[in-house]
Amino acid sequence: MKHVITIDGPSGSGKGTIAKLLARKLGYSYLDTGALYRAVAWQTDQHKIDIENEKALDDMLKKIHITFENEQILVDGQDISSEIRTAEISELSSRVSAKPSVRSALFDIQRKLCLQGRVVIEGRDTGTTICPESENKFYLDASVEERARRRFKELKINNPEMTMDKTIDDIRSRDLRDSSRESSPLRKTDDMIYVDSTGMEIDYVVTHIFDRLK
Ligand code: C5P
Repeated sequence: MKHVITIDGPSGSGKGTIAKLLARKLGYSYLDTGALYRAVAWQTDQHKIDIENEKALDDMLKKIHITFENEQILVDGQDISSEIRTAEISELSSRVSAKPSVRSALFDIQRKLCLQGRVVIEGRDTGTTICPESENKFYLDASVEERARRRFKELKINNPEMTMDKTIDDIRSRDLRDSSRESSPLRKTDDMIYVDSTGMEIDYVVTHIFDRLK
């Protein structure tokens, strides 16, 4: 699997921005797997589904239709790209993503794109579960403070009440949940190249990763 680049890492590590720029530079497509979990979270919220109710969650997963169009994400034809970027959906997506039924429902759509090749795919388990055969795996990290600063900038646009302390707390609890769950936890494996983007310019990180591609 030569033309698949996986980038995993915690929230706010810059995976999304870096993956998008890298894909553009290579002429590859780009898959933001976190958006899929956010879309599922958004749907449970819309339909007031209790995520602990397995039957209700399974029924919803059978019906949900998620598509991508020009880097926008659509659920049943509705563009929800900006609606999924709230602190509430971040939290809910982290909780739904720990459910094995959700992970298995979203596996095929990710795996299919990965098999098509010429793709930069980013998330928490892209190098371990979705495309373990990839020869270009990266783990992007940054300090909690820097990741919170980046997230805070985005979040306070829609939510003026958001504070930096609350953003740090949210990031810490998501980190813990994402890396300690049983089903495909976030982890760095020996075949991943570790990149710490703390204090680095975006373009520098893109070039740094580009130069390491096999
Ligand atoms: O990357 P992003 O913050 O948009 O992801 C939202 C949530 O989706 C994460 O907190 C994580 O719990 C979940 N996720 C996941 N596996 C992925 C991508 C995201 O569990 N591959």
